[in-house]
Amino acid sequence: EGGNQREFDYFKLAMQWPGTYCQRTRHCCSSNACCRGSNSPAEFTIHGLWPDYNDGSWPACCSRSRFNEKEISTLVGALDKYWPSLSCGSSSTCHGGKGSFWAHEWEKHGTCSFPVLQDEYNYFLTTLNVYFKYNITRVLNDAGYLPSNTEKYPIGGIVSAIQNAFHVTPEIACSNGALEELYLCFYKDFQPRECAVGSILLQDMSLSKSSCPKYVSLPEYVS
Ligand code: 5GP
Ligand code: 5GP
Ligand code: 5GP
Repeated sequence: EGGNQREFDYFKLAMQWPGTYCQRTRHCCSSNACCRGSNSPAEFTIHGLWPDYNDGSWPACCSRSRFNEKEISTLVGALDKYWPSLSCGSSSTCHGGKGSFWAHEWEKHGTCSFPVLQDEYNYFLTTLNVYFKYNITRVLNDAGYLPSNTEKYPIGGIVSAIQNAFHVTPEIACSNGALEELYLCFYKDFQPRECAVGSILLQDMSLSKSSCPKYVSLPEYVS
């Protein structure tokens, strides 16, 4: 359990590609988004909004506040669609218990976004708004990077498309040669900023630090 950790420096918005995440969770479990063949997400969905420090570390579990779904009842429709849990299992929370993906993200990361985001409702609402404003799925689709189970795309092209759209470099993560996560960073006022500070070769750095090969796939989601 965290407690009084120093205030964070910036936000990192983590987004996941369901077609990649669901490659390794094939089996079906009830109300699991990985099972829903018909309305399968063909877009990046939210993993979390993460307060970070400039030195590369981050605070976690910053208060005893427990997730309360009632506080976000008006957002549940949007969260089900854009922040689904693609995993069958429940997640560990900061207090040793088990909870939903939303409970995990709020307790581990959301509680550390104080004083910029002051409560659970604000954390989820703000995350949705930032995600809608910086629509990486649309940017990639417009640049010709469409979900496919046969194509491979140059990772440098994917990173450039995001740089051209938002004037910052995304961080990326892959799994089995497929793009799994993409991260965008923001100042506390939600203007985009670089995740890594002080580098002149941001694209090179983004690529070298990542788990991605030179050519990556953006797999379609198969149920
Ligand atoms: P992984 O080791 O799978 O990349 O990350 C495991 C978990 O550590 C993530 O789900 C997230 O909760 C946390 N984490 C990883 N990287 C970062 C980061 O750059 N910033 C923050 N705030 N948390 C991170
Ligand atoms: P690793 O050994 O892979 O760096 O980290 C082991 C565990 O510590 C992972 O669960 C990772 O999420 C967590 N971790 C790594 N760095 C940090 C950090 O700066 N802050 C926090 N809260 N957890 C971290
Ligand atoms: P993080 O890596 O953010 O610390 O932890 C993610 C936690 O949430 C893990 O315990 C993972 O099993 C759970 N989880 C539930 N649904 C999802 C999902 O859709 N994506 C990811 N990455 N983790 C999920």
